[in-house]
Amino acid sequence: MPSDDALQQAAPALLLPRIRFVLVETSLSGNIGATARAMKNMGLSRLALVRPKQGARFADADAVARASGADDLLQAATLHDSLAEALAGCRLVLGTSARLRALEWPLLDAEGGGARLLAEAAHGDVALVLGREATGLRNDELALCHYLVQIPTNPDFSSLNIAAAAQVFAYEIRRQLIRRPVGSAAVADERPELATADEMEGFHAHLMHTLLAIGYADAEQCGTLARRLRRLFHRARPDRTELNILRGVLAKVAGRPGAEPDRRSG
Ligand code: SAH
Repeated sequence: MPSDDALQQAAPALLLPRIRFVLVETSLSGNIGATARAMKNMGLSRLALVRPKQGARFADADAVARASGADDLLQAATLHDSLAEALAGCRLVLGTSARLRALEWPLLDAEGGGARLLAEAAHGDVALVLGREATGLRNDELALCHYLVQIPTNPDFSSLNIAAAAQVFAYEIRRQLIRRPVGSAAVADERPELATADEMEGFHAHLMHTLLAIGYADAEQCGTLARRLRRLFHRARPDRTELNILRGVLAKVAGRPGAEPDRRSG
């Protein structure tokens, strides 16, 4: 058995590479560089970019200057066409926002967010999603997140620069990592086989398709229903076996005679 000290020392190498920062449609390449620096300072390395404004040429002179030696993170950053794609394999997704959203979403502060990310990284990949400089994250992007995380700021002036926000989150993660009692995973969902973000996406598509096919939902109004159902399943956090059961049920429902009006009438 490794000693507690050995486990404590191994924790950063084990957990930090499982924590991914995902930047959505960042406009300024300098902000991507500054975020890479903020991450590397705290020992984080996995940067994922969804449609940065400069496209594949995001690692330009501004980005490299602001990265200030963290260019390795820029080189290793992954590029994605959609947020869903950037979240593939993640069991926990935290969205960040400077302001409270109309749609109620479970909310954490920066400390709580750091604790969750660390605790769940013990069981698999996790992600923190940062939004556009001007407009943040859209509601359909927040719908892919289990929690919304906010850095408590001056309510009259709440929006940080994206790299400054990344720095606060990265610091929270490191601060808690070096302090963390060995084996503490108080806030984690311990089940190891939770369905990942991409598996849940497949399920949600299947669910909505079935609800439309059986006439429970109609195409015009299914947006709100889809968000409510997402919230429900974000709370439930099904594991892979449970998800297979649900998909099996959907397959049976769709297979029932008369379950798909389109097919019947055509
Ligand atoms: N007007 C936008 C501000 C975007 S700031 C909005 O209200 O959302 C760019 C990004 O930095 C945000 O999308 C978020 O990821 C992060 N950010 C800025 N301030 C934050 C705060 N107080 N708490 C959490 N994240 C914050």
